[in-house]
Amino acid sequence: MAPKFTFEPSEIFILILLWLASTAAQWSPLQAPKELAQNLVRDPVLLSEASTDYGHIVHENPVAVFKPSSVSDIAGLIKFSNSLPIPFTVAARGQAHSVHGQAMARDGVAVNMTELNDYRKGSGIVVKVSGKYADVGGEQIWIDVLHATLEYGLTPLSWTDYLYLTLGGTLSNAGISGQAFQFGPQISNVHELELVTGKGDIVTCSATKNSNLFYAVLGGLGQFGIITRARVALGPAPTRVKWLHLLYNDFSAFSGDQEHLISLAENAPDYVEGFLLLNQPPLDLSFYPAAVQPRITSLVTQYSIIYIIELVKYYDDQSQENVDQEVEDLVRGLKFVPRFMFEKDASYEEFLNRVHSDELVLRSQGLWDLPHPWLNIFVPKSRISDIDEGVFKGIILKQNLTAGLVLIYPMNRSKWDDRMSAVTPDEDVFYNVAFLHTSGFDQLKAFQAQNQEVLQFCEDAGIKYKQYLPQDKTKQEWKEYFGPKWKTFQERKAEFDPKHILAPGQGIFT
Ligand SMILES: Cc1cc2nc3c(=O)[nH]c(=O)nc-3n(C[C@H](O)[C@H](O)[C@H](O)COP(=O)(O)OP(=O)(O)OC[C@H]3O[C@@H](n4cnc5c(N)ncnc54)[C@H](O)[C@@H]3O)c2cc1C
Repeated sequence: MAPKFTFEPSEIFILILLWLASTAAQWSPLQAPKELAQNLVRDPVLLSEASTDYGHIVHENPVAVFKPSSVSDIAGLIKFSNSLPIPFTVAARGQAHSVHGQAMARDGVAVNMTELNDYRKGSGIVVKVSGKYADVGGEQIWIDVLHATLEYGLTPLSWTDYLYLTLGGTLSNAGISGQAFQFGPQISNVHELELVTGKGDIVTCSATKNSNLFYAVLGGLGQFGIITRARVALGPAPTRVKWLHLLYNDFSAFSGDQEHLISLAENAPDYVEGFLLLNQPPLDLSFYPAAVQPRITSLVTQYSIIYIIELVKYYDDQSQENVDQEVEDLVRGLKFVPRFMFEKDASYEEFLNRVHSDELVLRSQGLWDLPHPWLNIFVPKSRISDIDEGVFKGIILKQNLTAGLVLIYPMNRSKWDDRMSAVTPDEDVFYNVAFLHTSGFDQLKAFQAQNQEVLQFCEDAGIKYKQYLPQDKTKQEWKEYFGPKWKTFQERKAEFDPKHILAPGQGIFT
């Protein structure tokens, strides 16, 4: 007589899991239907590119790279993944300027978003002058949006410091720069999105249509949908800028003036950022005329740390007559070191595209494709002087490691929309403090240890910071990171990407 086997329900569950795991290899993306399979490539160069990013820290190999020839192709790929008992993951890859593998898909598929350029046939950026907006493909880069809109005398209002980033990539985070205090981050300047959800549905959403999806995706770290089009708000474009650097040797004078500048209702500046000049190599004084550089060097030597406000006032032919007077009014009463204000006149594009000039120099010196152990934190205004004492002076200056830029500038929380996924500290004004290190491969660990020390200092001091471009968190840390938004974030994930297919490189649900 044949033996009889009986199983407990829990044993049956385990057996099913084992069976699924043993057959998982069969459910490879490469088994996709022919119309999808032809766009899945395993070219070693493409695979290798897709397994790295600007950070050069994390490396994860996808099974294949997907070259979509249309938006429906992306929908098809995601639907196919959904149809499998064990779905594969899918990561949209914009310019891969993430620093910690956020656009990678280990054993999944990396979607090369820039391939959509062929599909657009030149219609990737469509400017609607009457509506003051542009419909822009999620794969387009901001420098191209600038060029396209300037042709109509228009411009987006909110930027990032560097413009060779895709719309999809920056809108998945927030997109911040020195205009954010006035217009909010880039996610606050989008009227409508078209995207492919984690279920493979192509959906249009806005604040009034499918609003839950709209707010989820903005700042949503790629978790809910792949952005294929964004309707971006535009305003009149200036043609030129007055570009100022004000040097401070006293932190409270520096931060007090920054906060004053971002609060102005009349004759407000158009851009406010700030950064440190440390008595450490490299001391980049390229902004300043050669004649004044020795004066600046001796100021930095004397105080070890100098704080610089970077301030810009836009103008055009109509406002040219008044701009010098406006700048004079703006800086009157500010507490920078007397005679340490320096001014440049530049075209609007030269100013916005300033980081690209640095990029070209760094590339020519072989210094661009190096590890970038970056750390960005948003710090509530009430604790910013603790960052100066505990981090700038207590860690950065002491350890003498700094290779790169340390940015510090405030933003107004009222310009952020709390319904969106992006998280900020819970104060009306908060600062972006960015440690933008470039490290040799041999020094990477030292920089990572320093970043860890900065975070530990914030923890120990009870500073309620939020990491921007968050990375490398445990489940519990993600929960704490999103705080009161975690529940909604999870619910939205269950609604729009229930099988956890999208953006696995963020490490939130995978
Ligand atoms: C030199 C440099 C300067 C920078 N300056 C700033 C700055 O001033 N301000 C600022 O805010 N940020 C800045 N960043 C950070 C940058 O905004 C983010 O890293 C951004 O995600 C990069 O865009 P990307 O196209 O390279 O995105 P990727 O690195 O390709 O992708 C980032 C994430 O978004 C997802 N994603 C990509 N495309 C889409 C899409 N279409 N739909 C949905 N999800 C998508 C990816 O899967 C991934 O999870 C800078 C980065 C660099 C390297």
